[in-house]
Amino acid sequence: YENTLKSALVDALTGVFNRRYYEDILQNEINRARRRSGLISLCVLDIDNFKHYNDAYGHIEGDKVLITFASVIKKCLRREDIVCRYGGEEFVVIMPDSSAENSYMVMNRISEDLKKEKFYDSKSISFSCGISCYPKDTTDKNELFIKADKAMYIAKANGKNQVCIYGNERRNKIRLEVNWN
Ligand code: GH3
Ligand code: MG
Ligand code: MG
Repeated sequence: YENTLKSALVDALTGVFNRRYYEDILQNEINRARRRSGLISLCVLDIDNFKHYNDAYGHIEGDKVLITFASVIKKCLRREDIVCRYGGEEFVVIMPDSSAENSYMVMNRISEDLKKEKFYDSKSISFSCGISCYPKDTTDKNELFIKADKAMYIAKANGKNQVCIYGNERRNKIRLEVNWN
């Protein structure tokens, strides 16, 4: 019974949660954040030019990329962050109590770590990412995804291999809080 329950919520290829789990857990996390006046960053990650990679090296090699990508994402996150495979080569990360700027730094760390991985024929893999924030951008779960997805498409339009925060599209520098100690 436990195995069946687990397989209904976990993506068989990558071992991260699946879209079904994502749909349930995001509302729970929003409810929890509302009670605690907390915030959540939602990150949408999409591998760049993955169709080309599949076409060039085959589906099996493409699958290996997905497995490695998921494990690099997991390694860079905290225990409370939740990774889900939304579909195909698209992943979402729910980050409770993380500002958009903090999540921006985490996503860039994932990007750096992914560059160190050696893929077929020494090819490197990059991704584009969009970030939206509850409650700043919206308090609605679907709207939160739409906004992160929009930011992800702006990252694609700006040349891929980058992270974009929703609402910051027109700013070409991100403001980060710095602790000089
Ligand atoms: P972009 O940079 O704009 O995101 O381009 P893209 O090629 O990554 O995006 P596109 O949506 O054109 O192609 C996604 C590809 O992902 C097509 C599909 O074959 C591949 N894909 C989806 N799911 C899987 C999977 O489970 N395994 C493998 N190997 N490939 C998959
Ligand atoms: Mg893609
Ligand atoms: Mg895609």
